[in-house]
Amino acid sequence: MKITLIKPNIGRMEHSLYVDEARMEPLQLGVLAALTPPDVEVVLYDDRMETIPYDEPTDLVAITVETFTARRAYEISAEFRQRGVPVIMGGMHPTLIPEDAAPHADAILTGDAEFVWSHVVEDAQRGRLQPRYTADVGRVQPGTPTRRDIFQGKGYLPITLVQFSRGCRFACEFCAVSAYFGQTHLVRNVREVVEEIEAQERRLIFFVDDNLLANHAAAKRLFRELIPLKIRWVSQASIDMTQDRELMQLMVKSGCLGHVVGFESINPPSLRGMKKTPNLATAGEGYAEPIRILKNHGLQIWAAFTLGHDSDTLDSIRRTLDFALHHKFTFAAFNILMPYPNTPLYRRLQAENRLMYGGKWWVHPQYRFNYAAFQPAQMTATQLTRACFEARSQFNSISSIFRRAWDFQTNMRSLYRFALYLTYNPLFRKETFKKQGMKLGLRHEH
Ligand code: SF4
Repeated sequence: MKITLIKPNIGRMEHSLYVDEARMEPLQLGVLAALTPPDVEVVLYDDRMETIPYDEPTDLVAITVETFTARRAYEISAEFRQRGVPVIMGGMHPTLIPEDAAPHADAILTGDAEFVWSHVVEDAQRGRLQPRYTADVGRVQPGTPTRRDIFQGKGYLPITLVQFSRGCRFACEFCAVSAYFGQTHLVRNVREVVEEIEAQERRLIFFVDDNLLANHAAAKRLFRELIPLKIRWVSQASIDMTQDRELMQLMVKSGCLGHVVGFESINPPSLRGMKKTPNLATAGEGYAEPIRILKNHGLQIWAAFTLGHDSDTLDSIRRTLDFALHHKFTFAAFNILMPYPNTPLYRRLQAENRLMYGGKWWVHPQYRFNYAAFQPAQMTATQLTRACFEARSQFNSISSIFRRAWDFQTNMRSLYRFALYLTYNPLFRKETFKKQGMKLGLRHEH
């Protein structure tokens, strides 16, 4: 038996698919490959930079679907199904809104694949694929180290992705992760994580956890075990980490270079509205104390903002940009607030009749990447789209990259840090302009 794993692209530029030059290994497909019995052949095709050979013989196609890649995933699925090959879809999007994905696949898998994938393979082998597999959430990758051989030769960024935990204990209104996991947070066995890192060659690791520090005690156990490995690593974490001195020290000792930090907003009423509880204690003072602590520990900050909350104005978006420039953040993401299906935000905007594109922006032929998909309270959708693009453009301008480099606590702390800064800032600058306004999917419809 042969299974073909697919990572779909987001969309197209002019008449061809967008090529993501900052692409990372699709970790979830490496885990799926590892869960597959060894006598089953597994191949991976990554639609972000390679052509999918639809006519190559295969017995089952498994597509991982995020909301932004749903439209393209449905196109790919249609190609295989036309050729009589069964398709199963799983991932965040089919779990959040199974009824959207179900008509486009022979089967959908909701929840974490660990707990049902062996049944899927058995059923496919017998030609009896069920329309729906529902997995419980449970311990992450129990006894399952990622299969990394399927990533080889595909030109991914030279950084190894590893997962320690899934989910988050907070419940931010817009967050798809919180909607998926229902505020549960599950961690892997520390020994298995360490063995997985030891089994590969790279010294730079990205922990893809939604909030690596959602459980401080578990994170400390991990960091103690990481210290002897002498790796360097980055991750994503909520800003309340700075209140735990021991956690900060262990983090740095274990090789942490920095985090994606969800600031989301500098506007306390917006934070209260979105229920971003880990930020509330320090936002009022402009996050001065946590930023001081992060910098004193030499941590580089990738600041993530969501813009377009009901208390946001065009002026507050401009002030958010000034805040990011002032602190010389290593990177920053000025994301438009997106109504992901079945999140509390989506349901509220739906009840208030504020969703655009018929509520299904992810498959709408007119929707463009990085465009607002709802009516904001204090500006028009077009103004919000423009203001976010303006913030991204200014933060990633050549002069900003030059000015932000001059921070001796972080970006110029060492040659290595400076090299990372200089490698990734121009790359992200290029992607910012390339992606803006891209159409979703490949097929042309008007
Ligand atoms: S802290 Fe981050 S991961 Fe957790 S619910 Fe909020 S946005 Fe989601």
